Amino acid sequence: MSENIGNASLLTNRVILVTGAGDGIGRAVAMAFARAGARVILVGRTQSKLEQVYDSIMAEHLVEPVIHPMDLASAVADDYEVLGKSVTEQFGRLDGLLHNAGQLGTFGPLQYTLPENWMKIMQVNVNAAFLLTRALLPALLASADARVLFTSSSVGRKGRAYWGAYAVSKFAVEGMMQVLADELENTSNIKVNSVNPGATRTVMRADAYPAENPATLPTAESLVPAYVFLMSSQAADIHGQAINIRELLEKL
Ligand code: NAP
Repeated sequence: MSENIGNASLLTNRVILVTGAGDGIGRAVAMAFARAGARVILVGRTQSKLEQVYDSIMAEHLVEPVIHPMDLASAVADDYEVLGKSVTEQFGRLDGLLHNAGQLGTFGPLQYTLPENWMKIMQVNVNAAFLLTRALLPALLASADARVLFTSSSVGRKGRAYWGAYAVSKFAVEGMMQVLADELENTSNIKVNSVNPGATRTVMRADAYPAENPATLPTAESLVPAYVFLMSSQAADIHGQAINIRELLEKL
């Protein structure tokens, strides 16, 4: 699709917020965005992990990132508004938003899923993405060429027994992507898509498949060219799509 994906300047001057930036796919992608020239706003639950990502970015003499610790399970609408206002005040715009943070929750039949566990997964995987998108839309609309990426999963595209709230939350994420993409079609410069990273060597995957040998799985780092591409001006005609990261990688 492009010969410039490795180009270190693909995201120069872009301000991009990544949730769940302290670990797994979010950490690898946040590092890649910084290496491609972006100023990255690192949002996540564990401050020490965000600080490690900050230190890694600074050690490579890249654009200084911003840390914004936030527990999406307990944050309320006002917390998102504060973040949205602070992005506008500091940068005047937001060029990219990657909803990556997610929680797996418990496995089992819906009948035996505890209501409080269901609510928590919906809060982190769905409600937080809505509240964050809502609060950041003024900053995204101020960008000349913005991107919003929601993170889905294979079980958010085809239901599977015992995947419970996690699977249902990812279906909701796909729905949010479609509704937002349709709202913004032809009325803004914001491109909205969802991504399914596929099986990836992270803590979440190990929790879901404890008997699996992680060494057999692709690393989070191997996915990053697809995320950089989707956040760049090269993806300006991709909108409203449910993207498989692996398939996209083969085309890049
Ligand atoms: P991970 O290794 O568990 O990392 C998830 C990140 O989200 C962590 O940084 C975590 O913070 C953060 N997070 C979790 N709950 C949070 C909360 N309440 N508030 C703020 N941040 C929170 O997961 P991953 O495998 O990288 O997954 C990233 C995304 O890809 C998820 O949306 C997941 O559903 C999706 N996905 C993953 C796979 C896979 O095979 N790995 C496959 C399909 C889809 P802490 O580090 O502080 O816990």
